[in-house]
Amino acid sequence: MSSSTPQTVASAVDPLDATRLREDFPILSEEVNGHRLVYLDSAATSQRPLAVLDAEREFLTHANAAVHRGAHTLAAEATDLFEDARATVAGFVGAEAEQLVWTSGATMGLNLVAYSIGNASVGRGAPASAGLALRPGDEIVTTAIEHHANLLPWQELAARTGAVLRHIPARDDGTLDLDAASEIIGERTRIVAFTHVSNVLGIVNPVDELIALARRVGALTVMDACQSAPHLPLDLPALGVDLAVFSGHKMLGPYGVGGLYGRAEVLEAMPPFLTGGSMITTVTLDHAEYLAPPQRFEAGTQPIGPAIGLAAAVRYLDGVGLDRIHAHETMLAERMRAGLVEIPGIRLLGDAEGAERVGLWSFDVDGVHAHDAGQFLDARGVAVRVGHHCAAPLHSRFGITASVRASTALYNTADDVDVFLDAVSGIRPYFG
Ligand code: PLP
Repeated sequence: MSSSTPQTVASAVDPLDATRLREDFPILSEEVNGHRLVYLDSAATSQRPLAVLDAEREFLTHANAAVHRGAHTLAAEATDLFEDARATVAGFVGAEAEQLVWTSGATMGLNLVAYSIGNASVGRGAPASAGLALRPGDEIVTTAIEHHANLLPWQELAARTGAVLRHIPARDDGTLDLDAASEIIGERTRIVAFTHVSNVLGIVNPVDELIALARRVGALTVMDACQSAPHLPLDLPALGVDLAVFSGHKMLGPYGVGGLYGRAEVLEAMPPFLTGGSMITTVTLDHAEYLAPPQRFEAGTQPIGPAIGLAAAVRYLDGVGLDRIHAHETMLAERMRAGLVEIPGIRLLGDAEGAERVGLWSFDVDGVHAHDAGQFLDARGVAVRVGHHCAAPLHSRFGITASVRASTALYNTADDVDVFLDAVSGIRPYFG
């Protein structure tokens, strides 16, 4: 099988030429409700370039087979492609292949970690697993701005182990209160779980400071990198985080695949979560010995085609360059903010002065429900997300139940932002 080449990445000019890149994303030429599609919902799911579609198709057309144990040529080829994909995706976040566990997405990755620690807490795993065990009164610290995927698994773990869940509060401008964090993260803290970038606020959190606070007390750090991986250069080992998750479909890749990065000693200490085929060395009727990471956490048939597609996605992102992507999206975010603050009745969430951001803004439209605003924009071809974006506690913190979120990616243009702003300016006049 010949490897799939990203369509035109090499020819992208500096600064990033989004108009050129759009040719690689066929869906962006769609019309919606008689208008050019202005896709501003990439924080929910990104669009995929042809390179990703081609990589999966080529695998399924020429090399499809179950990986690892097959004695035939296709199985060997599929195994090579699958393991090459692991090395490519691990490399994208600065890691070694053995540090990358395939998951079905970020939600799965976070549940894997929480359930594994829960298993360690009831005495499962190797002797090293005991170091991960939680006891009643131990503390798990998360933040008030998390996606439910980085909140509910910890609520469940706390309920199962008797641990106490605590939260680092957000200030009115959406930034995390680090003074409070240094009070909250203390001797009883065993886990600190936080998002790199909030999917509602778009603010890049001071994760190095959170990691330093956690390290001071020997707590495990878990980072949700869903909203940073497609937008910022990431070097997870250099950052020093213990575990981190990301989702393929938010970073130009397929649905149903994601990554869990772990420091080698941490993964080594973790007992498995799901058990079954492909993750064992020996099995008797009463007992099983498990493989080393990452296979220990990959029970059952893995998302092989999607993993190969995700490798094509990160090659595409790398081909454009994460620095250039970040600079481009920062420009889009600034243009969006400049327009939104001029529109009467718009309240931005997380408009923190001087904060580093990715290219998304959530906002409340005075007197208009977010769902009505979303439908109004959709009628003009503008796709945004409305609701609580799986961050209900964050919305409560700001005294609302829902907001409108416009989120960009490398393929959005200044013209997209202008069409969006023009449409937003019509919302309140329309609803009276
Ligand atoms: N974390 C954040 C910050 C997210 O934005 C999302 C998706 O919206 C998730 C976790 C969950 O990702 P997935 O549904 O792909 O598992």
